[in-house]
Amino acid sequence: MIEISHVDKWYGTAFQALKDCTTSVAKGEVVVVCGPSGSGKSTLIKCVNALEPFQGGKITVDGISVGDPKTDLPKLRARVGMVFQHFELFPHLRIIDNLCLAQEKVLGRPHAEAVAKASKLLDRVGLKIQAQKYPAELSGGQQQRVAIARALAMDPIAMLFDEPTSALDPEMISEVLDVMVDLARDGMTMMVVTHEMGFARKVANRVIFMDQGEIVEDALKDDFFGKPRSDRAQKFLSKIL
Ligand code: ATP
Ligand code: MG
Repeated sequence: MIEISHVDKWYGTAFQALKDCTTSVAKGEVVVVCGPSGSGKSTLIKCVNALEPFQGGKITVDGISVGDPKTDLPKLRARVGMVFQHFELFPHLRIIDNLCLAQEKVLGRPHAEAVAKASKLLDRVGLKIQAQKYPAELSGGQQQRVAIARALAMDPIAMLFDEPTSALDPEMISEVLDVMVDLARDGMTMMVVTHEMGFARKVANRVIFMDQGEIVEDALKDDFFGKPRSDRAQKFLSKIL
């Protein structure tokens, strides 16, 4: 589903943020990306969604080449859901309208259909009764669940998450992870930057460890937690577990 092949990325001309990164995420697979701060995790998933350009290598999503100038990027982004650390809901729109906007503007869905879809998804993430509220009236955990529902409303073929729980108070983390676990078990293709190793153990198929712009380790979950091959990954794990 997602093929990342020998990707190099520079910020400016002096700093290389991704170095020859190669990996893939198969349909229905959940891949967790971890690694120290500044290792390139956010940059990697932003490249997948064409939020950042890259200079070398190739990325395809469902066969569509992300770096190809002919690719319809708004359409590609609509099909690959992205959830960030800081929810990024539209503050001036009610929750229900947050979920409807792109369905109508990007996919051209009739309003009634968009509302029906939105209501179903809000129900799925346990927030149906909050539909008429504004984002600021919800807790962080609730806002993040809205952000996930909003991405799902576009019928994505894959979902990218960038530290979706790291801005949340501890008591709200599990409500967001529960939604993500549910999604994973439902067969969604997911690439998840997180340090929630409980989540990784529960649903990841593979774990990627990055350091200094390189994919240092790309292993099946049990192999990764059993004994990472590299010293760098071992050190990292010993610090966060
Ligand atoms: P964190 O865990 O802190 O989120 P990360 O692994 O997501 O870190 P990135 O945000 O991908 O790391 O950043 C990788 C490197 O690229 C860092 O050294 C960072 O300073 C640099 N970088 C990121 N964004 C930019 C930018 N827009 N311009 C220049 N350098 C950047
Ligand atoms: Mg990051």
